[in-house]
Amino acid sequence: KHITADQIRQEIKEKNVHFLRLTFSDVNGNLKNVEVPVSQTEKVLSNQMMFDGSSIDGFVRIEESDMYLVPDLNTWLIFPWSADDGKRIGMLICDIYTTSGEPFSGDPRGNLKRMVGRLQEIGFKNFNLGAEAEFFLFRLKEDNEPSTKVNDHGGYFDLAPVDLGENCRREIVLTLEELGFEVEASHHEVAPSQHEIDFKYSDVVDACDKIQIFKLIVKSIARKHNLYATFMPKPVYGIAGSGMHCNMSLFTDDENAFYDANAEDGISNLMKHFIAGILAHAKAITAIGNPLVNSYKRLTPGYEAPVYIAWSGQNRSPLIRIPASRGKSTRIELRSVDPSANPYLVMAACINAGLDGVENELHVPTPTDRNIYSMTPYELKEAHIDQLPATLKEAIQALEDDPIILDALGKHIANNFITAKSIEYNEYETQVTAWEIERYLKVF
Ligand code: ADP
Ligand code: MG
Ligand code: MG
Ligand code: MG
Ligand code: MG
Repeated sequence: KHITADQIRQEIKEKNVHFLRLTFSDVNGNLKNVEVPVSQTEKVLSNQMMFDGSSIDGFVRIEESDMYLVPDLNTWLIFPWSADDGKRIGMLICDIYTTSGEPFSGDPRGNLKRMVGRLQEIGFKNFNLGAEAEFFLFRLKEDNEPSTKVNDHGGYFDLAPVDLGENCRREIVLTLEELGFEVEASHHEVAPSQHEIDFKYSDVVDACDKIQIFKLIVKSIARKHNLYATFMPKPVYGIAGSGMHCNMSLFTDDENAFYDANAEDGISNLMKHFIAGILAHAKAITAIGNPLVNSYKRLTPGYEAPVYIAWSGQNRSPLIRIPASRGKSTRIELRSVDPSANPYLVMAACINAGLDGVENELHVPTPTDRNIYSMTPYELKEAHIDQLPATLKEAIQALEDDPIILDALGKHIANNFITAKSIEYNEYETQVTAWEIERYLKVF
């Protein structure tokens, strides 16, 4: 897909577009936007749009607050809905540049491009990502505030009428298709009111853009159906949380460099080193892929979410699974990441970790093809299977101790991320929770 400025000018006229939304992601992965009327189109298309970066989380100090928005024309889309008078809104995802014309080092999307550049320097063409983001559709309360009340009692792959969220999910799928997504699957997940929609993998920057658009669409359509969509990793105690498995592969031209037709298991040595790299840096990656206090309540035994640092070809309990398909579909599935993560940062971290494995020919441990949760502490130790961080605090510590992952984020993002997350954790740690009151108040 290659969209030119002229095509955009023409669509603006033909499709009654009246506003342009220029978006980018902050360090927390939240989509930010500046909306301008179409009278500003030429300024937008000539990269002259400025904004004040000092008001964005994790961006800049006051004295260097002016930033340029440089739209990536290939991200052009027109929202499928319109105002009552038919006026429509177009959107462009932007890279952030400083006033001196350099890519801004605090921009997560620009930072991911820096990592992709590293892969290309050593001869790879595409790093592909296929994400499986799960989410809950909860009921709204009478005052229209979101609740955590489930909307159905469906389970994995259940059919309507059990699945009341089905109409909503179907409209999400249709809307995504209108926007050019190739939706591969959409189904009810294991927990009540939990859903998954999978779209086809693509080049990593495009795939991360799609995740951001996907979340926006899911939330908007849910509202129309009087539901609240949340990507919070573990919104309800005692039922499965939401993950965002990340399927990754590395292509040289049109060949999947992770596939080796001559290897007994079909897995190339390159892929094995890549896996070894991700396993070696798994603890620090967790800080980025599981960035909330709440994320660690999903990473517990019993719900198909990983707890142990291991890989497997069959089992769904380890951190990394290698799905059975080979050829073009040969891929690594990283199962720890949850949908509250900033996808651009997660992918930057995975690429640098994998590259460390490839460049230093790190040795991949033996795959664990049995249920890790049934192994005794002794067996785990014998097999050298370590655990993921159990809290955000541990994960941040691991990130601070991992130069490869710090380098994947760059100084600016790393410092902002670590500072913000440390504050978040400390604030949480001193809270008195409902669980404590229930458990202790009447006893002591
Ligand atoms: P699961 O069995 O884990 O539920 P899904 O079928 O839900 O898997 O999701 C698989 C995801 O992997 C899809 O997004 C798909 O496009 C993606 N995928 C397939 N081949 C590749 C590949 N070569 N590289 C990256 N992602 C891929
Ligand atoms: Mg899936
Ligand atoms: Mg599936
Ligand atoms: Mg799933
Ligand atoms: Mg999966």
